[in-house]
Amino acid sequence: MSYRFETLAIHAGHNDDDPTGAVTTPVYQSSTFRQQEPGVTSGFGYARTDHPTRRALEENLAALEGARYGLAFASGMAAIHNVLSILRSGDHVVSTQDLYGGAWRIFTKYFAKFGIEFTFVDAGDANAAGEALRPETKLLWLETPSNPLLKLTDIAACAALAKRRGVVTVVDNTFATPVLQQPLALGADIVVLSTTKFINGHSDALGGAVITNDEALFAELKFFQNAVGAVPGPQDCFLIQRGIRTLALRVERQSASAERVARYLRQHEAVARVHYPGFGAIVSFELDADVETTREFTKSLKLWTLAESLGSVKSLFCHPPTMTHASVEPEVRRRVGIADGLLRLSIGLEHVDDLIDDLEQGLASVTLEEKSA
Ligand SMILES: *Cc1c(COP(=O)(O)O)cnc(C)c1O
Repeated sequence: MSYRFETLAIHAGHNDDDPTGAVTTPVYQSSTFRQQEPGVTSGFGYARTDHPTRRALEENLAALEGARYGLAFASGMAAIHNVLSILRSGDHVVSTQDLYGGAWRIFTKYFAKFGIEFTFVDAGDANAAGEALRPETKLLWLETPSNPLLKLTDIAACAALAKRRGVVTVVDNTFATPVLQQPLALGADIVVLSTTKFINGHSDALGGAVITNDEALFAELKFFQNAVGAVPGPQDCFLIQRGIRTLALRVERQSASAERVARYLRQHEAVARVHYPGFGAIVSFELDADVETTREFTKSLKLWTLAESLGSVKSLFCHPPTMTHASVEPEVRRRVGIADGLLRLSIGLEHVDDLIDDLEQGLASVTLEEKSA
């Protein structure tokens, strides 16, 4: 019997045969497990290699992306590191240019040191991604909707081009979540998630995941997960799993509110541009203002919390040029279109009218300032 998403979110990975009858997977706060005789375990040996609370989460995450295999990590960055571990010196990666600042940083400042080359393209144009592939290209890295401009990539078209050249397609699915987009079904080979965001949803744990249907890739990724050891502890696995139970409900409501917020911003005179792909709970917009006025505006909001991260039940917002994307050089930011007045909103579960009222009073202060200037 194949269950639907909401049912899998509650049930997948949970061991109904738990001897205590526990209806939620317990936090097995244990770093090692007793062996019957040397090398003979009852399923678990050392917690870095495998752990029951983590395994429950890994099986659940795999099910959400319609996959066979899942691996959980201590953060989204640890998950990204895990995927790039399959590369060696001389390999080449083609990546979306408009991507998470931390991904850009680990590509260009860390993996580049080991002789891995990166080419950044506007993957909104599948042909541009295809043309950048070289004989030594091993990975095509996609992030869609992209961060912070929420541009869309045709995953199926890109993955098909990559497959023909023997290139592995990876999609960072953090923004859309498997509720709204399942990249493996569209032909991608690997999904990466920062589970810190919507998957956990409550801003109380860091985590990451790597998910695939490819048995050989999984074996290699699992080997590196254990070898590197950037694994989450049982308490964080539990919190992330608890968040997943309400993932579909949260994303649906947050997306509906985001649509309202985007519509509101589009008609406001102080707003130069709104970036919203028509789904999801993230909206970016540009104030018709310089960095100083934009930073002033961030202080005027009372309900929205100025913070990095996204996907929480609490509405968060940030100024990408000086926060999430501060590590991206100014000329690169300008080239990819990250304007000085850009703000990124992550819509939470507060009443949408309260969120809009707060934007209204904040934007009024910007408008007044401009008129008096
Ligand atoms: C936050 C984020 C990451 C990194 O995840 P952490 O859990 O912060 O390490 C990677 N990709 C995207 C799209 C993100 O938003």
